[in-house]
Amino acid sequence: MTARRDFLKQLLSLSVASAALLVGPMAFAQEKKKKKGESQDPKSCDAKPGVDGAATINYVEDKSKVAPAAKAEADKKTLKFAQQNCGNCILLQGGVCTVITKGCMKVKNEGWCPTWTHNPAAKG
Ligand code: SF4
Repeated sequence: MTARRDFLKQLLSLSVASAALLVGPMAFAQEKKKKKGESQDPKSCDAKPGVDGAATINYVEDKSKVAPAAKAEADKKTLKFAQQNCGNCILLQGGVCTVITKGCMKVKNEGWCPTWTHNPAAKG
């Protein structure tokens, strides 16, 4: 009887140890994905300047960081650079930037990128 109990105890502790071995790496992998924004819906997470598709289009949250040459180029568009922002860009659809093809797509209204294209229907 004791041998059977000992066997069951060993079996139980082995199961717990196996589960811990499996859960640990899985949780780690999921956390890693979360940090990279892979497990999130791209349309519900904030685009970060310098990351994924936001990096590709040179998205900025703070327009004061835009280089003077890029500002001068932007001034040639229908609105001056100072008036341009994601909030009045036609490429903003439902709060997400349709130009961002990888990673988080939500942009700030006061954000900007060189692809900005005027949305005449937008205020501001
Ligand atoms: S300015 Fe337009 S294209 Fe550029 S990040 Fe903002 S919404 Fe996207």
